[in-house]
Amino acid sequence: MSRVLIIGAGGVATVTVKKCARLPEHFNEIYLASRTVSKCEALQKEVGADRVKGVFAVDADDAKQVEALINDVKPDLVVNLALPYQDLPIMDACLATGVDYLDTANYEPKDEAKFEYSWQWAYQERFQEKGIMALLGSGFDPGVTNVYTAYAAKHYFDEIHYLDIVDCNGGDHGQAFATNFNPEINIREITQRGRFWENGEWKETDPLSVREDLHYQNIGERASYLMFHEELESLVKHFPSLKRARFWMTFGDAYLNHLRVLEGIGMTSIEPVEFQGQKIVPLEFLKAVLPNPGSLAEGYTGMTCIGTYITGIKDGKEKTIFIYNNCDHAKCNDEVGAQAVSYTTGVPAMIGAALMLNGTWKKSGVWNMEQFDPDPFMDMLNEHGLPWHVMECDESPFKK
Ligand code: NDP
Repeated sequence: MSRVLIIGAGGVATVTVKKCARLPEHFNEIYLASRTVSKCEALQKEVGADRVKGVFAVDADDAKQVEALINDVKPDLVVNLALPYQDLPIMDACLATGVDYLDTANYEPKDEAKFEYSWQWAYQERFQEKGIMALLGSGFDPGVTNVYTAYAAKHYFDEIHYLDIVDCNGGDHGQAFATNFNPEINIREITQRGRFWENGEWKETDPLSVREDLHYQNIGERASYLMFHEELESLVKHFPSLKRARFWMTFGDAYLNHLRVLEGIGMTSIEPVEFQGQKIVPLEFLKAVLPNPGSLAEGYTGMTCIGTYITGIKDGKEKTIFIYNNCDHAKCNDEVGAQAVSYTTGVPAMIGAALMLNGTWKKSGVWNMEQFDPDPFMDMLNEHGLPWHVMECDESPFKK
């Protein structure tokens, strides 16, 4: 008997709820809560009240509200698919009630566009003392990219040295400008300074100032820009042999032009401004006028290619492999009514939850994905819609 409480009812949660609903052997009972209860009700109606047993309104910024909800539902696991701002209040509520926790993005404070694991890693002792577990970052990147790295380290190398995570969305949603997941979180992330790990220290770059034109399987060549991404922080900690670790994401010219204009006129700022007698945050207003990422699925064509290049040593020789997945927007829409970015996040959240609930990935404390045996997770990716491939490369596409 397992009971899961999912918090959030946006693009990613929609996929996770639908995937969990099909797997009663892992998820006997599903409960769903979010800020806007009507979104939970709509999802419950689609999936069926026999699978989503109850829906609730909750403000997850308020740990006491979440605690009361957990006491009411009595879940075995809370899956946080709301926003990174809610990570700490939900972890506090899990601590107070003694329930396991999972999320897909690390904490970031609302008033500062800065994300790092320190805040959540600080719960390690308290989670251990309470005998409960937190699994951090069970999406695609972070998430699957961490598991790919652990899988490569386990099966392909004696030591890994260079890591380049590449994230390409080769799809077309037909909109002038839209983000594929929560616009506020997405824009905060990509307008930050770039950061990568090299020879034992973090190095910074101006935002989106370093570009490589990379080839992506089944998509072609795309301009890829160096960015900071949260999995780099945990991967360099857990694989100290890494000499360099970087993250790259593709952006088209039209997207970058829109972003530069929006930045230039102050629309991406998180500093409140006075507007008609009240304070508003420009980026929050921008989110309100941009397309809801969940609405992009209809008519979205093309696919994503997200993967991990790893160079290291095996039997005294250097080699490079690329582990990746292609995910087709239209196929995701046919299957669960979502686009590929929601799908590639929602499925790994379901898999992480299943592995926790069935005890395969289970230990008290606060953990990143690469700290567990990657094999069962990799098997479930193949079974549940995100098949992966390993390509042995003649040489790394990146300069040393
Ligand atoms: P959405 O904006 O579509 O959905 C977020 C949901 O959270 C909404 O239902 C929203 O409610 C709810 N929510 C927001 N604030 C609160 C609150 N205070 N209390 C309760 N519910 C709240 O976002 P996505 O589905 O696109 O993204 C979900 C998460 O997944 C984010 O944290 C994002 O960073 C992460 N992500 C991770 C990826 C990965 O690969 N690891 C990739 C993509 C996303 P309402 O509808 O009322 O606003």
